[in-house]
Amino acid sequence: MNFFFIIWFLSSLVFSQRFFVISDVHLDVHYNSSYDTSFHCHSTRHVESSYIPTPTNNSKIYGRLGCDSPKSLLKSALEEMRLIDPSPDFLVLLGDSVSHYAMHLLNNENEIDVNYNKYLVRQTIVDLTNLVEEFFPETQIIQAIGNNDGYERYQAPSGREGAEYLEFLYELWKPSAIEISGSFYDGGYYRSFTGSGYHILALNTNYLSSQSERKEESLEQLEWLRDEVEESDGDVIILLHIPPGFSMYDGGEQGWHEDYSKIFFDIVENNARKIKYILSGHRHLGSFKVIPNATVPFIVNPAISPIFFNNPSFRYFNESDYTDFIFNLYDEAPKWKKEYSFKEFFNLEGLDFIQAYLELESDDDLLEKFLSHSRGLSNVKTLSRDQLWTIETGGNHTEIPDTLRRVVLCSMKTFDQVHFNLCKNNENI
Ligand SMILES: [Zn+2]
Ligand SMILES: [Zn+2]
Repeated sequence: MNFFFIIWFLSSLVFSQRFFVISDVHLDVHYNSSYDTSFHCHSTRHVESSYIPTPTNNSKIYGRLGCDSPKSLLKSALEEMRLIDPSPDFLVLLGDSVSHYAMHLLNNENEIDVNYNKYLVRQTIVDLTNLVEEFFPETQIIQAIGNNDGYERYQAPSGREGAEYLEFLYELWKPSAIEISGSFYDGGYYRSFTGSGYHILALNTNYLSSQSERKEESLEQLEWLRDEVEESDGDVIILLHIPPGFSMYDGGEQGWHEDYSKIFFDIVENNARKIKYILSGHRHLGSFKVIPNATVPFIVNPAISPIFFNNPSFRYFNESDYTDFIFNLYDEAPKWKKEYSFKEFFNLEGLDFIQAYLELESDDDLLEKFLSHSRGLSNVKTLSRDQLWTIETGGNHTEIPDTLRRVVLCSMKTFDQVHFNLCKNNENI
C-alpha cells in the first residue's frame, strides 16, 4: 500500500462517519394527549392556569403542534432512528431536554413548589437519557446543556446548587459519553473523544447567552476552548446549544453577547483547518450559518418539540451530507419520513454552505423551499405562504417578502448588530 493510498483510506474513514443529532426535545412529563394548546397540553395547574382545564375529544398521542414533546414522540423518533441506523458511530443531544414549563407548575395550593419543580427538571433529564440509552445501548451519547435544562431559563445554576447540578449531570452522562473532561465541573463544558476519532468540545452556552451576565466564567470558558482547539490535532466538533448571532424571529434576536461571539470566531478562524463542524440547536429549525472569514460548517439543527408549529425532526449525518427526518403532525395519522438532504437539495458535492447561501440569496423560490424544509413543513399542503413566514420570523405579513427575506438571510451571515443592520438595509458589509 502506498503512502497516498493510506492517507486517502484514513480520510475516507473520517468522512464516512455516521451520527445522529437530536435537539430541543423539551420532554414534557405533564403532556396530556387530550388537552389542547391553551395550557400547553397540560392537565395540571401552572403559572398561567391556576385551575385544571377541561379535556377535549381530540386526542393527540404522539404530540400536538404548539406543545412540547410527550415521551411517546421521543420514543417514536428513537424507533425510527434505530431503523435508519442501529449502530451509528455516536449520537449527539444538543440540549433543551426539559419542557418549557417544568419550573412553572403549581401545587394544590396554587403555589410554585420550587423543590418539586427542580426535581422535575432533573427527572426529565434522567428519563430522556435513559430512553436514548435504551434504544442505543452500544452507542456513544454526547450531550450539551440547554437554556431550559437548569432551574431558571438561560441561567446556569451557581454556588453549591450549581456544583450539585453538575455532579448530577456528570454521573448521569458519563457512562454513555465514555469520556467527560474535568472541566465539566468548572461550568458544564467539556472535552470528549468519539471512538471514531472526533475531538468533541461541548460548551455551556448559558454563560455566553445575551440573557445572562456571567462575564468572568464566560471568558474562562472561551479561554478553555481556545486552549483545547489550539492543542488539538484536528477533527474537532464544537457543540453549542445557543448559537451566536441572530435568530430569524422578530426582526432578529441576538443569541450571545457580542464580545463573546468575537472571541469565539477569532478562535474558529485561527483554527479553521482543525474544526470539522460547529453544531448548534436552540432555534428549533434546521439551517446553517456562514462564518465571516472561514469555511467551517456551522450547522443549526432542528427540534423534536413541535412547540413552534414546526414538525418534530432529527438529523442523520452520513458521507459528508445530512438528512432530516420529520414526523408530520399536520397529518391525522403522522408517520416519520425523509424531509430533505442538504446535498440533494442544493445539488452540491459536499456541505458547501457558502455556495448554498449564495443560491438562497439569489433565488427567492429556493429560499422559501429551504425555509419550509427547515421546519419540516415541505409536505404540509394546508399551510399558506403567510403561515410559513409567520412560523419562521413571527413577522408581519405585509412585510413579505423583502424585509423578512433580508432578516432570514442576514441572520445566516452576520453576528453583530452593526453588520446585521447594514445587511438588513441591503448595504455592503
Ligand atoms: Zn429549545
Ligand atoms: Zn434553547
